[in-house]
Parts: sequence; structure tokens; C-alpha cells
Amino acid sequence: MKKIVAWKSLPEDVLAYLQQHAQVVQVDPSQHDAFVAALRDAEGGIGASAQITPAMLEGANRLKALSTISVGYDQFDVDDLTRRGIVLAHTPDVLTESTADTVFSLILACARRVVELADWVRAGQWRASIGPAQFGLDVQGKTIGIVGLGRIGGAVARRAALGFNMKVLYTNRSANREAEQAYGARRVELAELLAQSDFVCLQVPLTRETRHLIGAAELRAMKKSAILINASRGATVDELALIEALRNGTIHGAGLDVFDTEPLQADSPLLSMPNVVALPHIGSATHETRHAMALNAAQNLVAALDGTLTTNIVNRDVLAR
Ligand code: NAP
Repeated sequence: MKKIVAWKSLPEDVLAYLQQHAQVVQVDPSQHDAFVAALRDAEGGIGASAQITPAMLEGANRLKALSTISVGYDQFDVDDLTRRGIVLAHTPDVLTESTADTVFSLILACARRVVELADWVRAGQWRASIGPAQFGLDVQGKTIGIVGLGRIGGAVARRAALGFNMKVLYTNRSANREAEQAYGARRVELAELLAQSDFVCLQVPLTRETRHLIGAAELRAMKKSAILINASRGATVDELALIEALRNGTIHGAGLDVFDTEPLQADSPLLSMPNVVALPHIGSATHETRHAMALNAAQNLVAALDGTLTTNIVNRDVLAR
């Protein structure tokens, strides 16, 4: 029977499904040596939230497919997997709407100061009717700039344009005609997006080109009243430059689901700033979506090992080998 390594705990029914097709060995990715040894002995792997380096795959000669329970695949060296003939599968689409909801939660929470004021009430500070010191900013009718208008960015644009009557600007390497037609989205250069947007939302994958896409210069190019939302990957933003910009009032606030180091360190300056809403990487984290992602990843893996997977493949080149 084939062997599969699972480096993330799986819902019972998903595990049972995999066990119909293979022997499943569960490993704790923090136990590096045991993890590497298990990969050496397996045909397939499934998991999330762990870096899989080329060194970890040395000697894993039976490995045919890896399946990540995520749409992002920055934790893999895709070229190396292709060279080794290993298929990499991911889970686009099933998490699009939940992640767009998280983005919008951050937009609303930052603009209307939901977390800060809920804490204020809890601390017994609400002693008279509120005044300008507790006012926030409108979201409806404002301009949203989406850096990376793909699946999730498109779902954010839909909420923004149809639900909140917002003007949508975006950057992409190629045009998203569907979003242009459906939501009036306008493709602009990053400089224009930064200068015009009230909310700048990052939804690009983390790649060599997008690492630190937003640094000190880009933050300075934003409106002083603007709010930065990052639900892509921490490293798309230069976190030190962001901390500085939030301290200096270069921008108004930030809503962050992702960070340079996760979990975010308890002594991060971001946690003491009232104009920051920090979430523990919950983009897709609903019961329904996380289950759908695990099932989708398991189905991808079984099909990849059978040689029948046709969708959700990151490195299609591997099939041409
Ligand atoms: P997607 O459909 O591939 O969208 C990514 C968009 O980014 C595309 O429109 C792409 O357009 C654009 N893009 C790529 N490289 C770019 C570059 N160098 N400059 C400008 N734009 C670029 O992916 P998705 O499903 O929306 O997911 C996007 C990312 O969200 C994932 O990769 C993941 O990192 C993140 N994510 C985070 C969470 C969370 O929990 N916070 C959850 C899910 C996903 P072009 O190719 O035309 O440039």
C-alpha cells in the first residue's frame, strides 16, 4: 500500500478517505528529523503551515505528489519539485469567499475602530455618550486599491463595489476584464493606486517580485488617512517600515492577518498600537472552509498519486516530463 505523510491534523472523515487509498503517517513538522525520515519513505504528502525545503527532500525518491491545504504555495520551492518530478497541488477557490470576508472584517474593524472601542467599553471607559474622540471613518463610497486582483481580490472587489458602493482600483501584471466589467475596477500603476486609495489591500502571492512590495517609499506614497490591509503573506510588506509609518502617522492604520514571523511575537510594537488590528492568520479559518480545503487537498493528492489530477496543479510542467 502507498504511504502518505500528513504534517497537519486532518478532519476524521478526510483522514478516513485518505486511509481508503493509502497508509497515512501523521508527523509533527516541528520534529524535523522524524518529518524528513517520513518523507523519505512516502509516495505522497499533505499538510500546511510548514516550510518544505529541497534539503528535506533529499533521498525522498519515492515521492510523487505533495498537496498543500492552502492556495498559497510560497512554502515550497516549486522549481525544485518540478526538477524532482513531484506534483504540487493546492486548494484555490474553496477558500476565496471566507478569505474575502476576513479582508472586509479588517477594513470595517480598522475604519470603525471596532476592536479598539470594544476594548474601551470592556475597560469601563464608556461613561457618557461618545463624541468625536470615538468617531471612525466611512467605508462606503471610498476608494479601495487591490494589489493583486485574482480570485480573492475579485471577491473583495465584489463586496466593495456592489455592497459598499466603492470605487475599485487594482494592479496585476495582466488585466482582469471580468472585474473591470462587473465591478468597474480600473487597472492602474502601483503609484497611482497608492496615491488614490483610502484602503490598500494586498492579495498577491508571495514571490521574489512581491517580497517587500510595500516598503517605506510605498507607505509614504499612500494618503495619510489611508489604511493598509494585508491578508496575503507577511513578507509582502516590509514590517519594520510599516511599524515606523504607523508610529509617525505616515498612514492612518493597518489591518493585518499575516506577519513576518508567525505566531506574532508578544513584544511586537504592532500590538501596542491602537490603530492596528492584528489577527492570527485566520483568512480561511471557518469550520466549513477549513473542512472543504482539507477534503479538496486530500482528493487532489489521491488523484495526483493515481495520475488523474487535472486541476489545482501548481507545477503543470511536471506532467510534460
Ligand atoms: P490568485 O487568484 O492567483 O490572485 C493573485 C493575484 O495577484 C493575481 O491577480 C495576479 O495577477 C496578481 N499578481 C501576482 N504576481 C503579481 C505581481 N508580481 N505584481 C502584481 N500582481 C501580481 O490567488 P488568490 O487565490 O486570490 O490568492 C492570493 C494569495 O492570497 C495567496 O497566494 C495567498 O498567499 C494569500 N492567501 C492568504 C490567506 C490568509 O489566510 N490570509 C488565505 C488565502 C490566500 P497577474 O498574474 O496578472 O499578475
